[in-house]
Amino acid sequence: MSANCPRYQDLQLLPIAGEWRAGSAGKPLNVYNPYNGDLLLEVQQASRADLDAAYLEAARAQSKWAALGPAARAAVLYEVVAIFDRRRDEIIDWIIRESGSTRLKAQLEWGAARAIALESASFPSRVHGRIVESNVPGKESRVYRSALGVVGVISPWNFPLHLTQRSIAPALALGNAVVVKPASDTPVCGGLLLARIFEEAGLPAGVLSVVVGAGGDIGDAFVEHPVPALITFTGSTPVGRGIGRIASGGEYLKHVALELGGNSPFVVLDDADLEQAVNAAVFGKFLHQGQICMAVNRIIIDDSLYDAFAQRFVERVRALVVGDPDSSATVIGPVINARQLQGLQDKISLARGEGAEPLYEGGVDGNLLAPHVYGEVTVDMDLARNEIFGPLVGLLRARDEAHALELANASEFGLSSAVFSRNLERAVRFARQVRAGMSHINDIPVNDEANAPFGGEKNSGLGRFNGDWAIDEFTRDHWVSVQHVPRQYPF
Ligand code: NAD
Repeated sequence: MSANCPRYQDLQLLPIAGEWRAGSAGKPLNVYNPYNGDLLLEVQQASRADLDAAYLEAARAQSKWAALGPAARAAVLYEVVAIFDRRRDEIIDWIIRESGSTRLKAQLEWGAARAIALESASFPSRVHGRIVESNVPGKESRVYRSALGVVGVISPWNFPLHLTQRSIAPALALGNAVVVKPASDTPVCGGLLLARIFEEAGLPAGVLSVVVGAGGDIGDAFVEHPVPALITFTGSTPVGRGIGRIASGGEYLKHVALELGGNSPFVVLDDADLEQAVNAAVFGKFLHQGQICMAVNRIIIDDSLYDAFAQRFVERVRALVVGDPDSSATVIGPVINARQLQGLQDKISLARGEGAEPLYEGGVDGNLLAPHVYGEVTVDMDLARNEIFGPLVGLLRARDEAHALELANASEFGLSSAVFSRNLERAVRFARQVRAGMSHINDIPVNDEANAPFGGEKNSGLGRFNGDWAIDEFTRDHWVSVQHVPRQYPF
């Protein structure tokens, strides 16, 4: 960061309807560093009246913003990218302190959020209407593509900066206004920091508001409100299901994009390069303490490689450095909070109780949970059936390729997946039979590129982010026909 670029101040204030101020719910929210418990911020949360003001102002400001035209909107996005570069250290520092991310993960997240801003800067010149042929004599059929209007964005705490940015950058670039509700653990990275960045980049006041408040307090009102035309939700499947219900079953119907939980299979076929597969499994499982929707959740290994894989995997896992996320040597930092830690400890007890074979069990210190690896996990066990979202993993033994496929698909989720084989076309054939939105051959399931479709199948969600798919999600088609000559009607 350059000397003439002082850090943002007053991050406890919310940008609501064009004004930076305290929320009026009368409920303070303390935001803590998950590693050392330091109090980072005290935020006065938003009330329903604040939410209403934010949506109404967004609706008012949106048409002017859209009317500025493609070059002016793209310029704001390019400036956001420039600010990401100028303030790189400041942004990464917030990600580490607020979400317990290791330095490596924070750098990756900064890069992903920057990349989607850059990709979105091209959207204003990539969005197209169409002229389609008409069967009616003298009729011209036009399809206009325009902004949806106002978009409500709800984001989680694990990649807060990126998962908010991947909605707000395309939405704004395409001429929408946005109201964000970040997760209560990460209001800064999930919204307040981005609002400062967009303001500095020249986004007009009121086009982007951030309401910090618990899902239980303002969540329903956020989704039910008559103004937003689209709710994008990234978070857990149970909450997402509820949001889908309200958005489609309430008084006002809305578009929804739901990016939900995962249970990624990581499949090692009998001809895989063992060392490459082990290295990928370690990184794809333990990046950000396993708190990633696409993280390796089930390691499915062909019987012929199972023992060698298990031995080498445990050797690598034992050596992972657990500790202060700010230290560049650390691989595993804290989980986000004590509640998540308790949930993971319950999963450990359950794994033991269900008869999984403990291969490695690390220790616990504050919110730091060292890796736990279990062998001989079967499809009926909790470790295989449910999303783990932490540094634990189970190994499943597959009799052969067909059995590996059956195990891979034995899940209610279908977000991402990975398959390892030296025969690339065999792996492609396998991948195409996995019911998932994303499959990666000889790589980790954790991949997100700004121009490739990101999203899940089954209970992992609806809709796709990034690239052309985001252009579809954040705009609407409007068929307008023009009858150039008088039409002859049957009566
Ligand atoms: P969560 O569902 O508990 O919360 C997500 C967001 O929803 C938060 O902002 C929360 O405040 C809000 N919320 C909670 N209840 C609400 C309600 N009733 N109405 C409206 N909003 C409400 O999820 P989390 O614990 O923050 O994140 C972890 C989950 O997110 C995991 O299941 C993970 O797989 C999933 N996730 C999915 C993706 C993806 O792209 N598919 C990415 C990251 C995380």
